[in-house]
Amino acid sequence: MFERILYPTDFSDVAKKALQYVKQLKDAGGREIVVLHVIDQSNLDLLSSYSTIQDYLNIEREIEERAAQEIQFIVNDLKHLGFTVRSRIERGLPFREVLRVADEERPSVIVLGSHGKSNLEEIFLGSVSEKVVRKAGYPIMVVKR
Ligand code: ATP
Ligand code: MN
Repeated sequence: MFERILYPTDFSDVAKKALQYVKQLKDAGGREIVVLHVIDQSNLDLLSSYSTIQDYLNIEREIEERAAQEIQFIVNDLKHLGFTVRSRIERGLPFREVLRVADEERPSVIVLGSHGKSNLEEIFLGSVSEKVVRKAGYPIMVVKR
């Protein structure tokens, strides 16, 4: 029932909490995990309109490198626990990429945090988790902050 797990992460504390639940799915038949990070294109667009091309390229590369490092750390951690793991770094609008990757990967379950990097006190659900819960055609586990 939980064989193929899609774990989208923005590397926030809440997403890290969700990772603990991903790990526990091993005992429920979890075998294969796709770890997904989406580089938010609108952040890059904002950056490009406020910086020189050279600054933009440097920061863009730094964002890509940091994402690759963070995701590799998670992949190694999960591999040590005996999961088959793949990572994907996509670029675009986070909720849309999560939905698109879900349709490609056809997971048994999507595990994500209720909130992410913004983690605003008065917000019930972050916009990514809200849209994914609303639109995805797959079971979802939302881990509360
Ligand atoms: P908002 O982004 O609306 O200001 P937020 O940052 O608090 O609010 P979300 O962005 O909805 O909350 O994050 C909820 C969960 O969605 C995260 O814990 C993570 O699992 C997933 N997520 C959010 N952003 C991304 C991303 N860029 N790539 C992959 N997964 C993401
Ligand atoms: Mn967010």
